[in-house]
Amino acid sequence: MANLLSNGDDFKNAYNWTAQQIFHYLTNAAAAYPTRVDLAQLNQRVLQFVWNDAAIRPGLARYMNRNVQPAITTWRDPEGGLRPIQMVEVLSAVGYLLSETSPIKPIATLPSHGLNYCLPMLAMYAKWCITICSAVGGWAVCTPPGVVAISYVYREGKLEKVLLGVTTSGVPNIRRKCFRFRKDTVMHDVWPDSANRTAPLNDGVICFEDWGHCAETYPLYMLASANAKTKPWVYGKAMNVLSDAEGGGVADMNNYNPNEAQGYCRRACENCRVVIQALGGTVDNFSKDHWGVAK
Ligand SMILES: [Zn+2]
Repeated sequence: MANLLSNGDDFKNAYNWTAQQIFHYLTNAAAAYPTRVDLAQLNQRVLQFVWNDAAIRPGLARYMNRNVQPAITTWRDPEGGLRPIQMVEVLSAVGYLLSETSPIKPIATLPSHGLNYCLPMLAMYAKWCITICSAVGGWAVCTPPGVVAISYVYREGKLEKVLLGVTTSGVPNIRRKCFRFRKDTVMHDVWPDSANRTAPLNDGVICFEDWGHCAETYPLYMLASANAKTKPWVYGKAMNVLSDAEGGGVADMNNYNPNEAQGYCRRACENCRVVIQALGGTVDNFSKDHWGVAK
């Protein structure tokens, strides 16, 4: 059994892992869940497609030049139901694997799981995105994402489920492909009504302000699939990744620091707030500072 990342200290220690360490970890983590065949398949189809110990860049070139074909994996939603999730992006797959393979250990003392588990996990994931993009040939080849996000169910002092997500990344060509897939397939799956609505931030010109661009795109599955009783306990946080964001981002943080990491958090944007409300969620749970109350 692999040693799996399962608490704030683990995430803090893995914050500065190399891309090689990250991919090997994810491969082992997926293998540690033999009953979750879908995880192993996702790992094989998406991660190992771009990752090759001897040569990373050829793998990425193959990935970027392929037709966008989703890896379909089965996600166990907050109610325990099985739901197919489709994704075409490596960093989304990394976030998904991390979400599904990190055991949540009970925390006996304050502060809450939100601050003690989700915050360091989100910061580590942001840093991993930068590390992976750098390893596959630098920012000219794979521009890191601007924002990462997490949704989680936190009820009566118990963290039940997390799901990480990321804005699109990479060169403009792959970003566009991924955006189209997110808008037409993922957002439609999360919120079937999305095709009939106009996103508040969409001016008709800049597609990146439309539904699907946000880091919350996959994490919003948490709200979409929760039942009415669970929805009030779904929380979400977004975090800046890059230095040029207002107030800076994880790229400025050499080692994990909880106060700095919290400073890089941001509330859900206008587009996401509309979706959160439409899905029956509590918008305040997606604000910058509300992490959920410990029992
Ligand atoms: Zn948003």
